[in-house]
Amino acid sequence: MNKAIQTLLLSAALLPVSSAIAQDFDDVVINIHPVSGGVSYIEGRGGNMGLFIGDDGVFLIDDQYAPLTARIVAAIRSLSDEPIRFLVNTHMHPDHTGGNENFGRMGTMIFGHDNVRSQMLAAEYAEEPPLITFSDDMSFHINGEVVHVFKVPNAHTNGDVFIKFQGSNVIHTGDVYRTTTFPYIDVANGGSYLGTIEALNVLIEESDADTKIVPGHGGVSNVEEVTAFRNMLVVIRDRVAAAIRDGKSLEEIQGAGLTAEYDERWAGSGRIGGSASMLAAVYEDLAN
Ligand SMILES: [Zn+2]
Repeated sequence: MNKAIQTLLLSAALLPVSSAIAQDFDDVVINIHPVSGGVSYIEGRGGNMGLFIGDDGVFLIDDQYAPLTARIVAAIRSLSDEPIRFLVNTHMHPDHTGGNENFGRMGTMIFGHDNVRSQMLAAEYAEEPPLITFSDDMSFHINGEVVHVFKVPNAHTNGDVFIKFQGSNVIHTGDVYRTTTFPYIDVANGGSYLGTIEALNVLIEESDADTKIVPGHGGVSNVEEVTAFRNMLVVIRDRVAAAIRDGKSLEEIQGAGLTAEYDERWAGSGRIGGSASMLAAVYEDLAN
């Protein structure tokens, strides 16, 4: 397709977007960071996107927010003119699914776990759920390698998947793993702290020393860092379990400094990634 026409169609497709709520996206800059082989990640605002380019077309993971789609597409077009064929949602959250409607209108096929679609519909999200869903796993055979998408134990939500680029040795984890803060467990959407530990164990099993791990938020990581992160979660789990055995309430547990030596590096300031909300999730799993 002629580039001018393509741009025209793209802008027309982007006009009626409903989900651009109260955030100002004007100053968001889209940066593409090469990871390995044809795989990059795209940083803008919201979750890290995955980008895989080659002769068969463009494959994306997640799509940030709707007002950013035109800028994201422009950034992709600086690297590839191939059609944007496939997009996988790692989970339901708006900072990972906000561009679904726009990409869908451009003809991109959008995939996600069954629970991503059902939870988005149940939560009455403004974002459009994936049109194609799967229960366990699926494989894309494109650009000379196998891209394996597979469900992991309920962790950040109940629809989390990892995406493994088997040739390039890259794994995108969605928000099950983030290098920015403590894990955020969306308990209302089926997330689980103990499931997060299990999912990180899967990530460790699927990785070798050279695997590049793209987290949902933050820079590229590796199995050594994931192992340390998993070990921290195990320590916190065991401390909360001991406190529960001692008859402590959730409020007492949140006030007991159980994460003190980790807080400076890992505690987020609010509900998402904060120590108190994480401890509430641990308590939820262990006390009930
Ligand atoms: Zn999320």
